[in-house]
Amino acid sequence: MKTQILLPILAVAAFHAGLPSAHAQTAEQTAKQVLEEHPIIDGHNDVPAQIRGRFDSDFSKFDFRDTLETLGDAEKPMHTDIARLRKGGVGGQFWSVWIDPELPRAEAVERVIQQIDTVHRLANQYRDLEIALTADDIERAAKSGRIASLIGMEGGHSIGNSLAVLRQTYTLGARYMTLTHWKTLDWADAATDAPKSNGLSEFGVRVVHQMNALGMMVDISHVSPKTMHDTLDVARAPVIFSHSSANGVTDHPRNVPDSVLKRLPDNGGVVMVTFVPSYLKAERRDWEAAEKAEQERAKALYPGEKARRDAHMNGWRQATPMPSVTASDVADHIDHIRGVAGIDNIGIGGDYDGIRFLPDDMQDVSTYPVLFAELVQRGYSNDDLAKIARGNILRVMRDAERVADHHKIEVK
Ligand SMILES: [Zn+2]
Repeated sequence: MKTQILLPILAVAAFHAGLPSAHAQTAEQTAKQVLEEHPIIDGHNDVPAQIRGRFDSDFSKFDFRDTLETLGDAEKPMHTDIARLRKGGVGGQFWSVWIDPELPRAEAVERVIQQIDTVHRLANQYRDLEIALTADDIERAAKSGRIASLIGMEGGHSIGNSLAVLRQTYTLGARYMTLTHWKTLDWADAATDAPKSNGLSEFGVRVVHQMNALGMMVDISHVSPKTMHDTLDVARAPVIFSHSSANGVTDHPRNVPDSVLKRLPDNGGVVMVTFVPSYLKAERRDWEAAEKAEQERAKALYPGEKARRDAHMNGWRQATPMPSVTASDVADHIDHIRGVAGIDNIGIGGDYDGIRFLPDDMQDVSTYPVLFAELVQRGYSNDDLAKIARGNILRVMRDAERVADHHKIEVK
């Protein structure tokens, strides 16, 4: 009897003293619970390029359930496999079918079809994955406990200046196209190359309208700010940034300027915040640039002498420690986008398996809960987290599908 009365009193006392009660959840627990109910749909992952590069697209050479096991200790680990996607609370993934922007035009088209084929083969081989072509497909996959697998084309060089190829990549399952990769095209300027068209050319506008007519999302990561603005001027559906962060936090050509963020509430688009350390923190951007310059210097100093070059670089790295980047830096970008655009304009696009470095505490796809726990600690509500994890990108995809119904498939 006594303890029954005492316990509620103690709980009330603990509450008033600001102490956590026995049932209070930690931020990690809250994050995990939210992601169980609202699994992440990530905008960008380069596993198809890894499958080509590491395994020559031979599916007998790896087990995607556990790539750490496949590769062993001798090789650099992959960031992704099914076991870690599950642990990370991932329910949908846009697999990037990136191809080298230097490829000649005809070869580019063949290569992108091969990479699209790789995603279909992957989803076909593993019961945990399921190809998703629509927002409804993503919801269905979630209900059956599978990871929705979507296809994102990275770079307009994939279509070889042909609207026919663009239309047929849609038929093969591609649901977004990034207008450029790092190189400027005949019809769209990239953020990291000299401009040719002062943004989007006339044909570039037709590409955007064709994508809108098909219901393929227009991705303006990688493009120049002028191309971003031109696209927003003519787009008939919300845009996405499949993997970019905020230029207002870190000045980097791959990040989204505030002038563009301000236009997103009107357009309805989302910035899927990326984890590339040099985009996340200025000190890290500068360190990586200095490291690259030092490597060039070492090459010139010791031509053909790899051992001496390595020793030189080890000495340099010891004298010049790499500034650390963590989930807290990613959260700074999310805070910023929330402040300038809004909570409805944020998503996640990690760029796992496409980059050399990652934040210290987010080394693979099992670590999304670390970021979400950080957001819990910053006061984000469960509804906010659900929007960032999947609600916003699902809304954009549905909007793109709706607009497609209202336009003819072929654009003039
Ligand atoms: Zn990229």
